[in-house]
Amino acid sequence: MASFKAFNLSERMVSALEKLGYTSPSPVQSRIIPKALNRQSLVCQSETGSGKTHAYLIPIIDRIDTNLPRLQAIIIAPSRELARQVYDFAKPFERFYPHLKVRLMSSEEEKAQNTEGLSIAPQLIIGTPGRLKDLLSNEYELDLHGVKTLVLDEADMLMELGYFDDIDELYGKLPKGVNTMVFSATLHQGLKYKLEKYIASDFLYEGEENKTSSHVTHHLVDIKHVGALEALATFLKIKNPYLCLVFASKKEDVKKAYDFVKNLGYTATMFSGDLETRERKKTIRLIKDNRYQVIVCSDLLSRGIDIEDVTDVVSLDLPMDLSYYYHRAGRTGRFDKKGDSWVFYNSDSVDRPSELISQGLVFDFLTLKGDQLVPNPLGLEKRKFTKKKAWESEEQLKDIKIAKAKTRVKKVKPGYKVKTRRAIEKVKNKYRRKAIQKAVKAQKDRRYAEAAKRRAAKAEADE
Ligand code: AMP
Repeated sequence: MASFKAFNLSERMVSALEKLGYTSPSPVQSRIIPKALNRQSLVCQSETGSGKTHAYLIPIIDRIDTNLPRLQAIIIAPSRELARQVYDFAKPFERFYPHLKVRLMSSEEEKAQNTEGLSIAPQLIIGTPGRLKDLLSNEYELDLHGVKTLVLDEADMLMELGYFDDIDELYGKLPKGVNTMVFSATLHQGLKYKLEKYIASDFLYEGEENKTSSHVTHHLVDIKHVGALEALATFLKIKNPYLCLVFASKKEDVKKAYDFVKNLGYTATMFSGDLETRERKKTIRLIKDNRYQVIVCSDLLSRGIDIEDVTDVVSLDLPMDLSYYYHRAGRTGRFDKKGDSWVFYNSDSVDRPSELISQGLVFDFLTLKGDQLVPNPLGLEKRKFTKKKAWESEEQLKDIKIAKAKTRVKKVKPGYKVKTRRAIEKVKNKYRRKAIQKAVKAQKDRRYAEAAKRRAAKAEADE
């Protein structure tokens, strides 16, 4: 088993990690810690729950000169909750490094505490971009000359929320050659382009293929004609999950689902942008204290927040930006624990999960039948056949128009409507047949490909 001793870490750090219960490094830690200890700038795309926070915290803290009461490292996270979480991971190290000072700079409320905290210069500051901008103001007179490391955590979210202007401003004030480490769940072209400014051109790119942990099983649940809330009630009854996150995209749906679940008698809470800062903080605390069985939330909670032991994630709908699905599912299956992500859909919303499948995500298919969840061997195919819109290609609409024109009469005679309807139905049937043939062929191709893969794997194993 890999050990933290294998890295060039101080004995103090190795023993601190042991006492904190971290016995062996996670894969991302094994790859990042040695590079970070050498102060290499890097970009790391990593699964949520992979231990990426400690991948940068451990080397940063171990390289801090604790005899020097001067700011040496800054970590930027996109939300108060995320910043606090990083802070909560960093703070326990103060016990082992007597002169280490870690500070959180994240909200207006904490401004007073922030100022107080800065009276003795911290060596490590963790904060949100907005609050960190305060560092630049004269009010703090904080000396940035000793800063050696900058971390941008959840960089894709920092970009989405438009924080790069604030970060630019801060970056401009840092000493040249500051060591920059960027962590992001996703790394799209736009972000890579943006990051070139912060990272030397020969930056290391630690890409990992999986967008969510391999410990998560994804399920697509055809809820048929029942509403999402009714389906949720049945689901909760069947599964009785240990800790379940229920996601809805719209704030009003979060509220509705929360009221509904609460009425069912579950210990539940709600987390969305509607909550005041104070309430948000309290809710996060209670969630982490394991007070609830069900947490109904918006995508605000889908990013990075570490809630231990989430066993199930339910998506009542899929988010507009499908990349958020990966963040939702990433709330479970954290750190080698197994988890399940359940996506509800019906014939009206079947196209969204199809998109996820085409992105390579593997689901198993279930149907909610009465009060049972049963396997659905036909997967999405069956749904598509019954969904009218799926048939309506441009070509088909054109043919329907032609069929209508052909049956048009100058003088209305009895039965002309029936004739038109039949002509339209004929066109639709033609396209339906075509689509079925296409789907069956696709299914066959898929099976052949899977069988070929299995044969190849077997041949390799036999060699
Ligand atoms: P992440 O959000 O990816 O940083 O994952 C954080 C979770 O992983 C937290 O619950 C940490 O306590 C846990 N964690 C981090 N490193 C380790 C490790 N080496 N061994 C066990 N758990 C760890």
